[in-house]
Parts: sequence; C-alpha cells; structure tokens
Amino acid sequence: MTSHVPAALFDALDTGVALLDHQLKVKYANKRWQEWLGSDIPDNAPVSKLLGDDAAFHEIELRALLADGEPRSLAIVLHPAHADSLTWRLSTVAHRAPDGILLEATGSTDDAQAPMHDIARRLAEVSDMSEVLRTLCDVATRQCSGTGAAVLRVIASQGEVVAAAGDLAIARGRTFALEGSLLQEAVLGLDVIRESNYSESDRPLLKVVPELELGPMIVAPLRAHGETLGVIAVARGVGERAFRHAEIDRLRLLSDHAALAVHKSLLLMQAQSADRAKGRFLATMSHELRTPLTALAGYNELLADQVIGPLSEPQLDILERMRSVTIHLSAMIEEILAYTSLEEGREVVRPTEFLAADLVNAAIAVVQPLAEHKNLCITAILPSEHVRMTSDIDKSRQILVNLLGNAVKFTDKGTIAVRVSVHGGSALRVDIRDPGIGIADEELSRLFRPFAQVDTGLTRRHGGTGLGLYISRRLATLLKGHLEVQSQVNVGSTFTVVLPLTI
Ligand code: ADP
Repeated sequence: MTSHVPAALFDALDTGVALLDHQLKVKYANKRWQEWLGSDIPDNAPVSKLLGDDAAFHEIELRALLADGEPRSLAIVLHPAHADSLTWRLSTVAHRAPDGILLEATGSTDDAQAPMHDIARRLAEVSDMSEVLRTLCDVATRQCSGTGAAVLRVIASQGEVVAAAGDLAIARGRTFALEGSLLQEAVLGLDVIRESNYSESDRPLLKVVPELELGPMIVAPLRAHGETLGVIAVARGVGERAFRHAEIDRLRLLSDHAALAVHKSLLLMQAQSADRAKGRFLATMSHELRTPLTALAGYNELLADQVIGPLSEPQLDILERMRSVTIHLSAMIEEILAYTSLEEGREVVRPTEFLAADLVNAAIAVVQPLAEHKNLCITAILPSEHVRMTSDIDKSRQILVNLLGNAVKFTDKGTIAVRVSVHGGSALRVDIRDPGIGIADEELSRLFRPFAQVDTGLTRRHGGTGLGLYISRRLATLLKGHLEVQSQVNVGSTFTVVLPLTI
C-alpha cells in the first residue's frame, strides 16, 4: 500500500478501494471489498478475484485503460460465498494511478430480503429450539461480520444468555441483573441499540463474565406477534471497527425473521409438552383401570365356576358375554400401556433362544378361537427345517398376534394364510395374507400412525384403539426388523414382518 496513506483509513470507508499493478495483480484491496467477496485477498492475486461474474470481460476493459488512460466504469456482480450472504452489485470506476490502476466501488444488493428468505427457511427447518437458536447465532455472526453472537432473554428480574456462538460462547447459560443491561434497553427501546466498546462498559453481564473481551456490539429485540421473546446481540473483538448501517439493517431484518422462527419453536415445544402430558394421563388411567378389571375377571370366573352356587343356562350365557367384554377391555388397556411405554422409551429388548415355528404357532393359537367364531380358517406354511432365533419372543409374538388379530377382524370369510420363510439367510419373514376388506391406497400411508383407523365414522363396525399397527411397527423396529403392507380394497391385505434371526 502507498506509504503515506494508512490502510486503516481505507478500511474505514463504506466504499471499496483496490490498487492493481501493471500486470493487473492486486496490490491492495480494502476490508470492504473483502467483505463483499466473503474472503480475504492474498497479495498479488490476479484481478479476476475481485471482478466476479464477467471477470474476463472486465479485464479486457482494464487492459484498454492501461493503454489509453481513459477511466472505465465496470458493473461487477459478486455472488455470495455462503448460501445466506448477499449478492453484491458494485458500480466501479477504474482510474489510471501512478503504479497501475485504482478501483473505487460502491456496493448495493438487489434485494436485501432475498437471502433473509433463505435464512427464514433454514430456521423454519429446524424445530428443536436449541438448534434454532444456535443456527440463529451462527447466521447473525456471519451476516453482520461479527466475531460472536448470542440470544438473550428476560426471566423474572434477570437476564439469561440462552444461546451463544464465537466470542460470546463463554457466556452461554449465564444469568445477570437486568437493571442497566443492553438486554433491558433493547427490549424497552424496541429497536437495535449499539455499544461502541463493550469491554469498557459497566454492563451487568460483564460483571458476571469478566473474561468477555468484546469491542463494538449491536443488539436487536426479537419480536413476534406483538410479544418480545428476547434479543439477539452481535459483537466484534476489542479494537475492531464499529458496525455499519448496512450491518445494523441486516440484524434488524434478521431479528424479524428469527423472532417468527423462535415463536414457532415455542409453540411446538408447548404442543410436545401437552403431548407428553397426554401420554402420562393415558398411562396412569390405564394402570388404574387394569386393577379393577382384573378383579372383575376374577369374580366372573368365580361365578362361572359355580363355586358360590349353581347357575342357570341364561345366567351362564350372560357371564360369558361379560367375560368377553372384560377380555376386550383388558386388551385395549394393554395396548395403551404398550403405546405409552414405547413412547417413553421404556421398552427393553429381552433376547432368548427359541424356534421360529413355536413363535408362529403360539401367535396363531391366540387368535384361533376368534377365527373359529367367525368360521375362518388359518393355514400356516413353515420351513421344513428348524429355524432357531435369538430375539425377544414376547415382542415378536405381540407383533404377530396384532397382525393376525386384524386379519381375522377385517375378514368375513375365507382362509388366512401365514407363510414363514428365511429371508436372506439371516432374517425370519412372516407374510400374513387375508382375503378381507382390504385398505385403499390413500389410507395405507397413515395406517401406521398412532390412533389411525380407516373407518373413523360413528358407524364404524370394528372396535379397537388404532394403536395395533403403530405398536407393531415400533416393536419390529426395536427388534431391528421392519413391517410392511400391501393391500387392495375388497381383495385383501398382506402384512409382512421381517425380523433378524439374531438380534
Ligand atoms: P385397531 O385395529 O385397533 O383399530 P390397528 O392399528 O391394528 O388398530 O389398525 C388400524 C386400522 O388399519 C384398522 O382400524 C383398520 O382400518 C386397518 N387395518 C388393519 N389391518 C387390516 C386388515 N388386515 N385389513 C383391513 N384393514 C386393516
């Protein structure tokens, strides 16, 4: 750089300045230009590094300038180095200088909003709150050319650093007095505020985290739907230049988008916590119902065995109906309990060794009485040789019982075929085919969601919780296998479960 003009002076400019030698090598480019490029320019880099899209064309102009000395105007377009940075359009004037060429440029962006939409999309993609805030800190640091950023919020009469990146990372999780803080000022002032040298300020956060070595700082409130959720702060190191208007505008814009993303995450978190409350309620309620039901079943048996005294045929018939209702209720309660324990991650795999044929036959035995009651036949085709498995037999049986139970429930006549085979030498495959009512294509995708039932009208003929298939698939996944379905309305369904022979 020229010996009599300090580089710092050029770096303080809002315009871009660059000096080229006669070979069109870059001797100097000020900070502004490097910011537009999103990267540093090494000494003696070819000028094409500065010129963006039409570099070759601009170079011809610059050579012509060297020859005739006539100033040239160049329209330079610089595309962003990062997906969330801006596309800059530089109006550049090139003059002949004593040692080569001097370039002076003013930069503008086509649409300052455009990259913000990108950021908003990226923020919207992440639903976990801590991830939203971390992304936000990273984006803000980059967008405002800072060295660190943090999201802060007010809790009671205190401030808290809820997320932080870069130079501010050491303050994460710290709380501080609200009185006199930048947080309080930004929340009350509703607009971006600046601090020229944070480390020399007397702010409460600095008293709690004295290791923070920060120079200029800007802070913007995060407001969504009339509510202030917190603030976002971007800072630079001690002695670095102050934030420019363009950077402050960018933070303002970013904070608007970010506030909406944070608001959305908050709503999601509330919904998830309501979901967890619902799960807990279901679990408690099912537990409470299980005890009296067991007692009911016991008394029923006592009466049916005629230990208390002899009963007439009609009385025995009523008792039998009561028994089948009790069994049905118990099955539903067991299903809800299985669902809640899967949801809470309480299910553990207990592997034992067993024969695949025993597993399948035991499952068929459970549904056989129901099938006979409906005059349905169940056939099983098993491999000729013994297939040994090491897996959780109870969970495997539960899956098959659910699938067979559905096959019986949704079939009025015909035969339910169970085919067992070894798949790829390492997995057991069970196909359960029924000639029942079948499932329409559009229903297939939501079949495995909890509480999903195809026929949800008041007129629905079949009882059930809509949890069986969801639980079955979750159990199959827990056992490192999978569960699929193929079906055609009025033709029938085939459910296929594949489980590894050894878990
Ligand atoms: P539930 O049977 O308790 O309602 P499931 O999760 O086991 O819950 O099944 C969900 C829905 O999928 C059923 O209500 C039914 O509409 C449909 N379905 C499941 N299996 C079959 C089948 N074999 N044939 C036809 N429809 C079925």
